[in-house]
Amino acid sequence: MPRLSEVIAELDALWPPERAEGWDAVGTVCGDPDAHVDRVLFAVDPVQAVADEALTLGAQLIVTHHPLYLRGTTTVAATTFKGRVVHGLISNGVALHVAHTNADTADPGVSDALAGALDLRVTGPLVPDPTDPKGHRGLGRICELDHPETLREFAARAAVRLPATAQGIRLAGDPDALVRTVAVSGGSGDSLFDAVRAAGVDAYLTADLRHHPASEAVQHSSLGLVDAAHWATEWPWCEQAAAQLDAISDRHGWGLRVHVSKRVTDPWTTHHSSGAPN
Ligand SMILES: [Zn+2]
Repeated sequence: MPRLSEVIAELDALWPPERAEGWDAVGTVCGDPDAHVDRVLFAVDPVQAVADEALTLGAQLIVTHHPLYLRGTTTVAATTFKGRVVHGLISNGVALHVAHTNADTADPGVSDALAGALDLRVTGPLVPDPTDPKGHRGLGRICELDHPETLREFAARAAVRLPATAQGIRLAGDPDALVRTVAVSGGSGDSLFDAVRAAGVDAYLTADLRHHPASEAVQHSSLGLVDAAHWATEWPWCEQAAAQLDAISDRHGWGLRVHVSKRVTDPWTTHHSSGAPN
């Protein structure tokens, strides 16, 4: 049974913390490096429900995509909801480790998993990392479809292939336009519109698109937009990451049991369509 420090060393090799953005907060939030690990839970969000799931499973390590604390704090008192999570984890001997923007830009990264979930063929990063001589790392991915399909069909594919959420899939642009190439970016994607336009793709699949950037994008070009729930666009990474850790465990003969949380932690829980607009 490996020690936490040995598992973390392998996770840091997959997603080197120095490759995270300067504003990000990645790495180990809590955990004793000498503690033993035999069960690991991957999840998108370090929320109480995921911490509870780890306790039920008997996991000693949770790996999440989103940080628990993105900014500095002066308290982990259990009277705060984040402090309550930290207390529960430490008092039950559960470590928490975060791989966020360092997992976004990795090879394979969050957007490779998103492309894989939709059976898209990745041709390269949307915003290449200039420090990668192979040109595989970077933000977002540019992808090709095996066969052209309409934007409406592509959105329907996303609705079926991504895990179910209350939000579902929203689409902007001409639903009958043909899609041959797409850009995908797991998580909030409207900061990447310039790169998406420069890539000349037919559609862009991401999350958290806001009114003005989306409106401008469809007014200025024929780009189709497919907006999924933030959690749903990043959840495929959990399965990819779990498979990577499984392979590492096999190589070392660790016998780790690696789980992926299927709990939907997208904050939106209900969606009422207001009917088809005219
Ligand atoms: Zn995210």
